[in-house]
Amino acid sequence: MRPFDYIRPDSLTHAGQLVDETGHRAIAGGTNLIDLMKLQVETPNALIDLNQLGMREIAELDDGGLRIGALATNSETAAHMRVRSDYPLLARAILAGATQQLRNKATTGGNLCQRTRCYYFTNPDQPCNKREPGSGCGAIEGVARLHAVLGTSPHCIATYPGDMAVALSALDASVEIACEGERTRTVPARDFHCLPGETPWQDNVLEPGEIITAVTLPPPVRGTQLYRKVRERSSYAFALVSVAAIVEMKNGRIARAELAFGGLAHKPWHDPRLSPLLLGKEPGRALFEEAADLLLEDARGFGENDFKIPLARRTLCAVLAEATGVEL
Ligand code: SF4
Repeated sequence: MRPFDYIRPDSLTHAGQLVDETGHRAIAGGTNLIDLMKLQVETPNALIDLNQLGMREIAELDDGGLRIGALATNSETAAHMRVRSDYPLLARAILAGATQQLRNKATTGGNLCQRTRCYYFTNPDQPCNKREPGSGCGAIEGVARLHAVLGTSPHCIATYPGDMAVALSALDASVEIACEGERTRTVPARDFHCLPGETPWQDNVLEPGEIITAVTLPPPVRGTQLYRKVRERSSYAFALVSVAAIVEMKNGRIARAELAFGGLAHKPWHDPRLSPLLLGKEPGRALFEEAADLLLEDARGFGENDFKIPLARRTLCAVLAEATGVEL
């Protein structure tokens, strides 16, 4: 690991000014950044520690929603009574990720900012446009088992590795961001992460100097909430495919269907065409297959990850069947 400065700013404004400087990186739990520094994938000149800036509270909002501070740990969020009772999808997604020790340190903001686990990205001897723009993409014709099948570009086929953000996408949460320390802007969770396009090094919409301050959840809605994660082993593994779902039934028909997917793309995948397709219909295999056809119509595998396309289909159908009480 290369030497670096360690700075503890005394205000959000000061932190914003420091993070704005080239080579400075914000740190909270450090569960991803420190690993990348050990591998010399990340080589910051200075770490700006946010931990003394508050932002840890989980608070009720006037509209019935919930505001989760950026420094609330994943363990605190998953154990919070309101999260467990009104947003069980979020608790389940968080508990499906990492280990208890990591969740005790990992924070809301850091979880959103975690970087891909592409093997080429984490190996500085390999070509990787995300780590070193213009060096090429080792995964496209290489080892691509964990990689994306939706929204890829000729420059990068990495996946976003997290679970929490997939649930936030299905819940239609928002990300609160401090700009220049004081002014804030709010970005829908569905728009927070980027597709690789021609700028694969850009994981999300944060600008230099911006810091995540909180995630806000809208008022709870009725319906069944599910998070199903398919992975190589039953703990401490990233999703091959995951599905977050909120489904409400009324009089035998689907009255609400919010879906988001992990493991398929460079961002939690939300297809706005799925809900209109499902609403008002009687659930059944034909309808679920139609939804999968729509979701996957542009899916493309890269050899080793071809299996993700039928896996995503089966997982979506299984989740919809469980949520609607249909036997397949
Ligand atoms: Fe790098 Fe993306 Fe290619 Fe992986 S998939 S090697 S992260 S450019």
